[in-house]
Amino acid sequence: MQAFREAIVAGANGDELGAMALPESYRAAHVRRDEVEMFAGVDSAEKDPRKSLHVSEVPVPELAPDEAYLAVMASSINFNTVWTSIFEPLPTFGFLDRLGKESAWGARHALDHHVVGSDASGVVLRVGSAVRNWRPGDKVVVHCNYVDDQDPSAHDDSMLAANQRIWGFESNFGGLADLAVVKANQLMPKARHLSWEEAAINALCNSTAYRMLVSHNGAPMKQGDRVLVWGGSGGLGSYAVQHVMNGGGTPVAVVSSPDKVDLLHKFGVEAVIDRAAAGYRFWKDEHTQDESEWRRFGKDVRALVGAEPDIVFEHPGRQTMGASVFVCKRAGTIVTCAATSGYMIEYDNRHLWMKLKTIKGSHFANYREAWDANQLVCDGKVVPPLSALYPLDHVGDAAFQVHHNLHEGKIGVLCLAPEEGLGIDDPELRARVGEDRITLFRRHGA
Ligand code: NAP
Repeated sequence: MQAFREAIVAGANGDELGAMALPESYRAAHVRRDEVEMFAGVDSAEKDPRKSLHVSEVPVPELAPDEAYLAVMASSINFNTVWTSIFEPLPTFGFLDRLGKESAWGARHALDHHVVGSDASGVVLRVGSAVRNWRPGDKVVVHCNYVDDQDPSAHDDSMLAANQRIWGFESNFGGLADLAVVKANQLMPKARHLSWEEAAINALCNSTAYRMLVSHNGAPMKQGDRVLVWGGSGGLGSYAVQHVMNGGGTPVAVVSSPDKVDLLHKFGVEAVIDRAAAGYRFWKDEHTQDESEWRRFGKDVRALVGAEPDIVFEHPGRQTMGASVFVCKRAGTIVTCAATSGYMIEYDNRHLWMKLKTIKGSHFANYREAWDANQLVCDGKVVPPLSALYPLDHVGDAAFQVHHNLHEGKIGVLCLAPEEGLGIDDPELRARVGEDRITLFRRHGA
């Protein structure tokens, strides 16, 4: 892939890239089937992605007619790569094996290595015979909704498809590599004013937050709404607060350090709670929650924004769900897409039914939602919260940071891009959006 790296950096066009020979193998971050038991008996927090994530050459798979090969310039760490690398809640090889049974093309995925990564920016190198809208040389980003377009259940909202998958988590050949194999209907234009790494980090978290808050499939939010955002400076949260502010709402962000409070204030979020400083103990012990702590939290939220939140943007799960259901306004919505701290949730149902609240589940985004969320990035209305950058060879260190909540926003990974800052094609738009705004998280994290 070195030849492709040089050609892309030198500005080769699609015809030139299309004429170059593809290699037989490529550098990729992956976990191995024969290592799924390596952390048996080890506590979750001690399971170390640096041990399980390997970076080495793997064979280039064959291309299906509806797919494209992508030269990956940059990618990002999502929490799903943490889950895969610590083999929790399940080793992801089970997903690959199931995909392998679906079709001849699916069988390519059931390998003894799983190439991870659910975000990418890069350049199309080849397209399959059924691909109409993309060609070699196109600069793109990838969203991770991997659907079978011949499945009728995929044709209302593709997130409702029976065999919907997340690329690079429930499928193989993901983005943390020099080359990726993606379906043509995962491709979207790369924002021309962003570098490869700034463009690479957005699709997964931005699209997820968009569906939860902006799409009619989510909460949905309206002007004036107060929205409580857990982890307001994290991967999902840093997009959620942007969507709330863009939509005329008021975010109340929760974070866990004065540094993160400061970052969000600079980002334009006025109401921020430092949960570590407040010392909330929603759980008295492993089995018992403390309603007085929910009340104290609710009081702090009201003190900042004058009323209970119309919407709670949930993802920490077990640790916070009781409080989220309690503090949400009468007839409000708790929209949830995850359970980082535990998925067996407990809340007081009286507060839900007596106050006619709704808990709404949400998962990634369909192509339309991802496309619309990407357009906001292309227009400069959503900026990339890139805080740190690692070379692909150090992907384990990057995943370790996310596993231990040591990061802010998103961590980018340089794949073929030889250095930071390349790939900006529209410096005028960049100047209009504002260098300071685009690089706020990066400068803050430096
Ligand atoms: P992230 O970058 O690690 O951010 C999560 C934030 O949540 C952290 O910054 C942290 O902020 C906060 N947090 C963590 N544990 C908490 C706790 N016990 N109580 C309160 N706050 C806590 O991760 P992310 O990318 O936002 O992803 C978050 C979760 O969503 C993960 O489980 C991920 O797998 C899932 N996810 C699901 C989808 C989907 O489509 N279903 C998409 C994206 C992500 P502070 O420490 O500053 O409070």
